[in-house]
Formats: sequence, structure tokens, C-alpha cells
Amino acid sequence: MPDVRDQLSDHLKFFAELGAGGFRKDGVWGERAEGREERAEGREQRAEGREQRAEGGEQRAEEALAAIREDIGDCTRCKLCTLGRKQIVFGVGNPHADLMFVGEAPGRDEDIQGIPFVGRAGQKLTQIIEAIGLKRDDVYIANVIKCRPPENRNPEPDEVEKCEPFLFRQVDTIKPKVIVALGTFAARSLLKTDAPISRLRGRVYDYRGAQLVPTFHPAYLLRNPDCRREVWEDMKKVRALLNGEGA
Ligand code: URA
Repeated sequence: MPDVRDQLSDHLKFFAELGAGGFRKDGVWGERAEGREERAEGREQRAEGREQRAEGGEQRAEEALAAIREDIGDCTRCKLCTLGRKQIVFGVGNPHADLMFVGEAPGRDEDIQGIPFVGRAGQKLTQIIEAIGLKRDDVYIANVIKCRPPENRNPEPDEVEKCEPFLFRQVDTIKPKVIVALGTFAARSLLKTDAPISRLRGRVYDYRGAQLVPTFHPAYLLRNPDCRREVWEDMKKVRALLNGEGA
């Protein structure tokens, strides 16, 4: 079993890496932990409620997602199918997630594995998720575009137009409380704006019944570690929204 001190040290390094610093010696952290347990209980009850509703006749989210994947098929709706993509990268995670991450499009690693955010940017995203006390399995991760654009170029408008309806259906099925738009492309696509991410972040937007928080893309964060502080601020906001605390 890993030593508790090692685990704690890893955890603190991890927070430091994301730009969070400082401790409080008062009881606030303990109280927060207690609050977390209560909130976890609340989440479990909500999840149970969702299960019961599903059993009560609603189509289960798992089945609805499978149906969306089936509708996509071996998609030829846009030119990306002829431009070297290996496979469709649909999405991964908890179909009942309260939190959903939306990125731009699969890169090389994702195209090979068929799973979003599994490369270096994906590892950074996993750290970000864990920094707010969640696991990858707790959340749902998808992209605006399901196929890898050649040379990782930006997706083009016709490609977005064809692919976006599937993302809408994923969002409407999962019904997350909070969506994090990762990077300029995802934030602009979802919010239908040309504004840069630096202008979009820092605010919470209504999006298809969820609260949308734009933040920097993990790949950008890898290249610009100075943005850790902003990402950390955004993720604290996400945590608060998930806890129903407002932002
Ligand atoms: N970047 C993205 O936007 N999505 C992925 O799945 C991987 C890298």
C-alpha cells in the first residue's frame, strides 16, 4: 500500500503544478471535507433518482449514447473521412456525469486509440479533473469534431456543421450540470462567437441547460504553464457550480 506521506506529497505537488498554493491552518479544510461527504451523499441520491427515472420508462442514457454512436456509423458526412482519419472518436465517461469536458477534435493518439484526450494534453486534463477531487470515470469527455483533422489543423466550418449535431445530442442525453469548454475552438464553437478564449473565460454561460465554463486547452497549458493560475481559478468555479454554490 502506498505510504500516506507519499500520497500527500504527490497531491501537493500536483496542486502546486496547477498553480494552487497556500494552506489554511484553521478548521476550514476539515469543514470542507465534511461538506464534501454530504455533497457526495447528495450526488449519490441524485444519481439514484436518475437511475429510477430511467428504469421508470425513460430511455437510459447509456442506450441513448449507443444510439447516437450508431447513427454516426462509419461517417462520411464530411471530407475528414477521406483525409486519413483512422476512426471516429465518439466520447468517453459516465453517461450520467454532472460534469462534461468538450475539446476541439481528436489528435494523433486519440485517432489511434479511439478515445478522446489520451495523449499528453489528455494526461494534463486528467490532472485537472483529479485536482478538483474527481476521476476521469466520473465525468464525460467529448470533442466538437469526432474525426482527426489532417496535421491537427483547425476543424473547418463545414466539418463543424456536420458533426456538431452529434455533440448536441450527447449533451442533451447526459444533461450535465456543468460543461467545460477546453480552448478557443471549443468555446467559440459552443458559444457561437469569434471572441478569443482570453476574453471568454472568467464568466459562466448558459448552454443547453448546463452552465458552461470556458478555460484554456490543456495543450495550451502545456506550452504556457503560466496559465495554470487561471485554469485553477476556472476549475474552482466548476467545483463550486457542481456543489450548487454558484460561482
Ligand atoms: N485535443 C482535443 O481537443 N481533443 C482531444 O481529444 C485531444 C486533444
